[in-house]
Amino acid sequence: MQITVDMNLCESHGQCVFAAPEIFSFDDEDYLVYEATASDDLLAKAEKAAAVCPVRAIQVHAAAGQGAA
Ligand code: SF4
Repeated sequence: MQITVDMNLCESHGQCVFAAPEIFSFDDEDYLVYEATASDDLLAKAEKAAAVCPVRAIQVHAAAGQGAA
């Protein structure tokens, strides 16, 4: 799956880091860093992270070939 975060929206609340620490974390300066391409095994966690983000900055796209394009 592909994950994108609109860093213009992100306010470093960190809910995504709690929801999906395999994907999201903070660097030494408290900027969000994330895996732009993550295993589909983590899809549910990624979608939970997107759902809990208070500014809706996270977009999750499942891998091609699953359902309608
Ligand atoms: S939950 Fe949203 S606002 Fe908070 S760090 Fe993650 S992407 Fe940024």
